[in-house]
Amino acid sequence: MTNRYIVLFTVGPVQSFIASARKTEDFWSGSYILSHLVREAMKRFYQYGAGCEMIYPLVGKEELRTLSLRELRVASLPNRLTAVMEGTETDVCGWLRETEQDVRNVFLDFCFQAVSRMFPHLSDDERQQLETMVEQQVQSFLEVYWVAEPYEPSASFRTVRERAERRLGALKNEKHYASVPQQGLVCSVCKEREALRLEEIDDFDRYGEIKRKTANLWKRRAGKFQGRDGDGEDERRVGRVKDNEFLCGICLGKRVARDYFTDLFGASFRPFPSVLDIGSGDYYAVLMMDGDNMGRWFSGEQKEEYSRTSQKLARFSKEVVPRIVEQQCHGELVYAGGDDVLAFLPVDEALKAAELLRLAFSDEQQGLGEGATASFGLVIAHKKAPLQHVLNEARALEQKAKQYRNEQTNQQKDALALAVHTRSGEIAEAILPWMIKGKMASSRLEQFVALLKTSISPNFIFHFTQAFAPLLHEKDCPKWENRDMLAVELRRLLKRSVKEGNQWKERDLRSHTDALMALYDAVPRGYDFLHLLKMLTFFRRSEGSDV
Ligand SMILES: [Zn+2]
Repeated sequence: MTNRYIVLFTVGPVQSFIASARKTEDFWSGSYILSHLVREAMKRFYQYGAGCEMIYPLVGKEELRTLSLRELRVASLPNRLTAVMEGTETDVCGWLRETEQDVRNVFLDFCFQAVSRMFPHLSDDERQQLETMVEQQVQSFLEVYWVAEPYEPSASFRTVRERAERRLGALKNEKHYASVPQQGLVCSVCKEREALRLEEIDDFDRYGEIKRKTANLWKRRAGKFQGRDGDGEDERRVGRVKDNEFLCGICLGKRVARDYFTDLFGASFRPFPSVLDIGSGDYYAVLMMDGDNMGRWFSGEQKEEYSRTSQKLARFSKEVVPRIVEQQCHGELVYAGGDDVLAFLPVDEALKAAELLRLAFSDEQQGLGEGATASFGLVIAHKKAPLQHVLNEARALEQKAKQYRNEQTNQQKDALALAVHTRSGEIAEAILPWMIKGKMASSRLEQFVALLKTSISPNFIFHFTQAFAPLLHEKDCPKWENRDMLAVELRRLLKRSVKEGNQWKERDLRSHTDALMALYDAVPRGYDFLHLLKMLTFFRRSEGSDV
């Protein structure tokens, strides 16, 4: 028998932690709490002394204890841990069981504290009643999974780790969903769990009565969470919990998270900026990034290779991503864990941010190094669009980017899926590979935006769309049949739209036409090309304002 184990430990569910949100702050706190729980688990691991070696993420014991200012603000730990533990099977399983219990207790205490902060004037009985409700919700929500796989001295790290992965996968599939009986109103944020209330709901209560009973509790929320008079649409001016919001125990925890962490770390947590604070126009951008083929990067035979990848990802997410998003591009980072990034950005910095992140990811010094690629979803949306919807859209785009493939060039994944949602509800969407004939897609786009700003009239896009959109009538006709005709027509329209005072030579005309044709060849469908042209005119208007 060996006394060494490869351990995998995960905390989730990631999507539900992060995705249910009505405010930018809900997104921030969801990922921040998750990262905090993972950190607590790691601290616990280190308490078992020499018996535990962290492999992924590679964060030292000291580092865990002293958080940098940046770590204090941005979630930076992925939701799964890989470690090697030494001990008997009883030891190791005991440690893991304790760690799981610890994570559950921390989260439960976090939610209980939120109840006390939100409702400071409850009687002991009332508090007890709410805590019982919250505890049921937490126990059926929080998913902690772990496996310990024997790691014999002769076995390869890779083989054992893969065996552990398979067992973890099987464990997750077996999950039983404990149902919590629900009678009252559903939570305004997650729309899944029941909103907290004190009064009993009678089987014959009508909706109005149920709502009144629920509101009776929420009227008692502490003054600091209540709304002030003002523009009801400006989330900066209404209270942290609006008059018509009724939350479940978990969404309540997320809303109050800032106060919890302020007390815990003795540092003040500023409110996460609202979308209204991102950039100065009417639009903002949401960027999601995900590394491609991460399994391949983590496939090292030796533990050391695996650790090296861990180390590189830690540097990328802790140093490189915040520098690019926050300092170079004036955005707000929601999370950066390993190869995953979620950020809000001003419209005119969004393409640049995506490009810098993509370049850094394949850089030896900043990211994983040569050969590393990543797929991106980037949505430009109006500031009044429902936030949840915009985020779901960004995630869907990231998936589309991952599915990119081009038969001609053999390119796969490593793409940018871009969408603009205008205020009137019109959606333009296009998928581009990052590299188009030796040049970054983003710089090709920027180049064309610059032309639209200076020397050509956007009318050409209008005329082109009018002529060519009707030829794409059906889904089974993904691209125009006659590529040469397309090139001739683009050239003719470009030439006609050169603004007065610009002297274009034959050579200029040819190179700009070729540049457009390169974009056309790279996109999967003709519609992507039409939408791309439309989006260029949107980017031309600086700061993404409504015109
Ligand atoms: Zn909820």
